[in-house]
Amino acid sequence: MASGVYIGIDIGGSGIDAGLCGADGALITRGRTPVVSGAERGDILRDTRLLLRSLISGAGVSNGDVLGIGVGIPGSFDGERGEILYTANMPLGGLNIAEELGCDFAAPVHLENDANCAALGEKQAPGREMIEDMVFVTVGTGIGGGVIAGGEIYRGFNSAAGEIGHMVIERGGRMCACGRRGCWERYASATALTEAAVRLAESGRGAAVRRLCGDDLSRVSAKTPFDAARQGDAAARRLIDEYISYLACGIANLVNILEPQLVCIGGGVSREPDEWLLGPLRDAVYREAYPHGRARTRLESAHFTEDSGIIGAAALCRSKVS
Ligand SMILES: [Zn+2]
Repeated sequence: MASGVYIGIDIGGSGIDAGLCGADGALITRGRTPVVSGAERGDILRDTRLLLRSLISGAGVSNGDVLGIGVGIPGSFDGERGEILYTANMPLGGLNIAEELGCDFAAPVHLENDANCAALGEKQAPGREMIEDMVFVTVGTGIGGGVIAGGEIYRGFNSAAGEIGHMVIERGGRMCACGRRGCWERYASATALTEAAVRLAESGRGAAVRRLCGDDLSRVSAKTPFDAARQGDAAARRLIDEYISYLACGIANLVNILEPQLVCIGGGVSREPDEWLLGPLRDAVYREAYPHGRARTRLESAHFTEDSGIIGAAALCRSKVS
């Protein structure tokens, strides 16, 4: 491939996703290698190398065709040294990933926060060419965020900006792992929704939730209360309405502070049909947000879903190389 390719790597607690993107940013091929719990650093590195090798040979290119490598890190890192400093649940702290990848590739290696990579990836989606200011909100175990301001990733002075999940929406509220009470992610993450559905079932009012999980509450997910509400269960419907009001509260705060053109929502919950999530969410956000200008912030779900991080990591690297 004459124009060369870019590698995007998205490190996650349960797996490493990687892909090759062309010079135009489009994803050519992608793959994933799982990270089993208790995996050693050497195992993770070996599996990542094998994944990259198979992607490169599968695409009919060679290591020399790789023009840049971007790596999304779910934790802290030293971008100048190319070193991972800390990752939760993975033994990668102290790993100089740029040096390791440098053994196989001559291309420069860029590290970036994983949510920032996802934001940058989503910015490449069709119809978003004019977007300069956006927030990517990942609704998962917690709530992660990537902020793009004036077309650039907003990192903060210590590269730790965008911890939107830890904005307090209920002072003195539920305890959060970060040490504060009432953080947004304790109310609006997929985990929070799952926990609320389990509490509903335990209270005896969640007949549909119980039915859907076959009376095994460990099988309840964030999708279960949506499914229960779709079956006409009134208690589940109220739970979803409350969940969306919490999600909207935090998004309205972000809209008020940043006035982004776009708030993009990722994570499993974002795959719910529009009439169940984005529609009511838009209504609530537009009702709550301070009325700025004439144009309203767009609220959309992730376009590339699980590929956003890979595409963004590769894009980061493309903009740095060119
Ligand atoms: Zn918190």
